[in-house]
Amino acid sequence: MTETIISPAEIARRPIEVPPHPHWPTLSKEEKTALKARIKQQLQEQDAVLVAHYYTDGDLQSLAEETGGCVADSLEMARFGSEQSAKTLVVCGVRFMGETAKILNPEKRILMPDLNATCSLDEGCPADEFRRFCDQHPDHTVVVYANTSAEVKARADWVVTSGIALPIVKHLAEKGEKIIWAPDKHLGHYVQKLTGADMLFWEGSCVVHEEFKSVALERLRKLHPGAAVLVHPESPAAIIDQADVVGSTTALINAVTSMDNDEFIVATDGGIFHKMKQLAPNKNLIEAPTQGEGATCQSCAHCPWMAMNALQNLSDVLTTGANEIVIDPALAEKAVLPIQRMLEFAKTHGIGMKTQGNA
Ligand code: SF4
Repeated sequence: MTETIISPAEIARRPIEVPPHPHWPTLSKEEKTALKARIKQQLQEQDAVLVAHYYTDGDLQSLAEETGGCVADSLEMARFGSEQSAKTLVVCGVRFMGETAKILNPEKRILMPDLNATCSLDEGCPADEFRRFCDQHPDHTVVVYANTSAEVKARADWVVTSGIALPIVKHLAEKGEKIIWAPDKHLGHYVQKLTGADMLFWEGSCVVHEEFKSVALERLRKLHPGAAVLVHPESPAAIIDQADVVGSTTALINAVTSMDNDEFIVATDGGIFHKMKQLAPNKNLIEAPTQGEGATCQSCAHCPWMAMNALQNLSDVLTTGANEIVIDPALAEKAVLPIQRMLEFAKTHGIGMKTQGNA
C-alpha cells in the first residue's frame, strides 16, 4: 500500500484548536495571601520546588522566587531543576517544559498545574508526520526547537532554544550539513537569513507571536520615536525587521535593563512584563500591537495555554498529586541525546545558557 505523505505546508494549514483564555476567579488580598501560604507549606512538606516560565501569571513568578524556585526560559527551568536536590519539581508553564524537565530529571516527580496547557508549535508538529518528513530526507540533520513533544525530540539530532539556534545552525552549515528545521517557521527563516544555511522547514508558528501586526507597529514606533523595539524571533519577519533587539525571553529582559532607552515596545507574550517591570521599574514598557488590540484572547499577546497556570490549580495539584508527567524511559533515553548535544555545545563554545532561552 502506498503511504500518503502530507507536506509540512498542508499540516500548517490545519487549524489548531486554541482554547479560550481561562478566567480565574479574582481572589481578595486575604484569600491570595492564605493560598500562597498554603502552597509554601505544601512545597516544603513535599520537598518540592517551583519552576515557572516568564509568560506565566505574575503571582506564580513571585511565588517561585519567594520559595527558592526559579523564573526563567524553558531550558533554564529544566537546568535549574537538574541542580536541585528536591524530589519534586512543579513546572508552571506548558507541557513540553514539563516533559523536558522529566527527560533531564527522570528520577524526579514532575507535576504541572494543568496537563492540557500545550503550545501551538508542539500541536502543529505531530510526531508521526514529522518522522515521515524526516525519513523522506535522510541526508538532512534534524534540528528541532525546544517547543516540541518528547517524541519529536527523540527523532532529532539537535534540540535548540531561540538563543542558541544561530550558533548551532551556523556550526552545522559550516560543516556543509543540510538541515531540517522544525517547527517554528519564523525563527527558522530568521536563522537561515543570518547563516545562509541550507534548510528545509516545517511550517509551524506560535499563535501569540503570529498576531503582531507590522503596519500598526510602524505607527506605534512613530508615536514613540525614542522607544527601542524588542522582538522575540518567533514573530513574523515584518516584525523582526523593525527590531532593535531580536532575542530570547532572557535576552529581551536583559535589553530592558542594559539599554539606555526610557521606552521599549515589546513583541512577545505579555507575561514577560512582570519580570521587566521588577528589574526596570522606571522604564515605560509598551505591548507591540496585535490583530485584535485587546478584542479577543487569541490576539492579545497572552498565551492561553500559559494562562492555564494559576495559584488555585497549583495548590490543587500539590494537594492531589495529580498531573504528573510520565514519559516512557525508552523514549526519554532517545529524547535526552539531542538536548545533551545542545548543552555540550553551549559548554564547549562558552555560551552562557542563562542568557539564552526560548518561548
Ligand atoms: S507563547 Fe507561543 S510558543 Fe509560547 S507556549 Fe504559547 S503558543 Fe507556544
